[in-house]
Amino acid sequence: MDRRIFGLETEFGLNYVPSDGRRLTPEDAARHLFRPIVAWGRSSNVFLENGSRLYLDVGSHPEYATAECDQLLQLIAHDRAGEALMLDLVDQAEDQLMEEGHEGKIFMFKNNVDSAGNSYGCHENYLIPRKIEFKRLADMLIPFLVTRQLLCGAGNLVQVGEETKFVFSQRADHMWEGVSSATTRSRPIINTRDEPHADAEYHRRLHVIVGDSTMSETTQLLKIGATDLVLRLIESGEIYHDLRLENPIRSIRQISHDFTGQTVVRLMGGDEPTALQIQWVLLDSVKQFIAKHGAHHDRVEQIIELWERVLNAIEAQNFSAIDKDIDWAIKRKLLLGYAQKNSLELSSHRLAQLNLTYHDIDPSRGLFHLLRKRGLATSVVSDAQIRDAIFNPPETTRAVVRSKFIKAARATGRRYSADWVHMKYEEGQGGVVLCKDPFATQNDQVDELIEIMSKPV
Ligand code: ATP
Ligand code: MG
Ligand code: MG
Repeated sequence: MDRRIFGLETEFGLNYVPSDGRRLTPEDAARHLFRPIVAWGRSSNVFLENGSRLYLDVGSHPEYATAECDQLLQLIAHDRAGEALMLDLVDQAEDQLMEEGHEGKIFMFKNNVDSAGNSYGCHENYLIPRKIEFKRLADMLIPFLVTRQLLCGAGNLVQVGEETKFVFSQRADHMWEGVSSATTRSRPIINTRDEPHADAEYHRRLHVIVGDSTMSETTQLLKIGATDLVLRLIESGEIYHDLRLENPIRSIRQISHDFTGQTVVRLMGGDEPTALQIQWVLLDSVKQFIAKHGAHHDRVEQIIELWERVLNAIEAQNFSAIDKDIDWAIKRKLLLGYAQKNSLELSSHRLAQLNLTYHDIDPSRGLFHLLRKRGLATSVVSDAQIRDAIFNPPETTRAVVRSKFIKAARATGRRYSADWVHMKYEEGQGGVVLCKDPFATQNDQVDELIEIMSKPV
């Protein structure tokens, strides 16, 4: 697929810390956080004017799902816009709580594990052609996803027996299956629930739920960009290496815990390559594919250079070439440096705090954001692009239609509903319009609905 639809869903961790001793449960804090949303959209599950979805499922992990994007930087800007929207809700909630006599702070984390050991996700969505045989796709994609944490893990401290270790990934220890239709009970790497949010005859939505949430924009570019390239390879059917893993779940944990990248992975065919070797095979295949077909967007070269740089750094066990670009390497340098300077064990409470505060989305507090401000972490989108994405949809996808519909409906004050595919005027005649093409930026029927809404009843 030359043009692909992408979307990112991020669940955030939430913590309320009172300064007056009066506690709030995370559920209460989440409810306060969503008050302005409920006031705006009469629900804690809304589609916003920038085309995204903001919602609170059962529990206390607010989620932001970006609108459909078809370019990587656009996707990254829209994902960052989600952080900005959440921050704004935090500010409003703290003010409101203060008025009600609660003095305290709400902390929001873009990470994947809370202090009780619960895990929450960052889901990636990729539009793929229906005609691809799903089993073949999974056979080729899973070895990539299991080893992809070398490129884009968020880094974590975990207790292994008596020892506390710094590992590549937050999610790796929480995955239970390769492929399945559940998302919470059994946590597969790829979720097969078949909801394409598009014409099911031609399209499928690949739902990858194994990835860590990403603080670094550069890591995000590599994570989604490399996955898109591997998908192109698979879709072309041109190059195939049988890398099917004997036990993906055992491997994903072992690989996460081994910074040498030399963990041996047993393949179904009996071979035993290392995690790094699997990544090299895939990178080489992608390079061959690009050499033959050319790049399909202007960041391909950057993605491949970055990919290669990460693998070389792991091979050489010298991470200095990537410690401003890749989340686990940025965090590792921060944590290990701090431990050394202050003669602390990795198991110390202070390091556990830093491991968490790295993911705080508040730019005045979050360690990732502070490092970025000091030039110690790279970016790929500008503040202006992020600000624009808070209010406006990606300009090249169906999100334009949704945004136009929502903005118009709200301007008229009429009752409406919208989701990824449906735009509905709830009053009078008009009914529902189905927008099945996620690439279409124009829909005449939606324009008609808007016209009907705009007329006096
Ligand atoms: P849930 O998270 O509640 O289980 P879900 O997986 O359907 O449901 P949503 O949170 O509604 O996910 O988010 C859907 C994501 O899929 C969004 O990021 C959206 O941009 C993206 N998306 C929408 N249509 C398509 C499509 N046709 N192909 C790929 N991605 C899509
Ligand atoms: Mg979701
Ligand atoms: Mg999802």
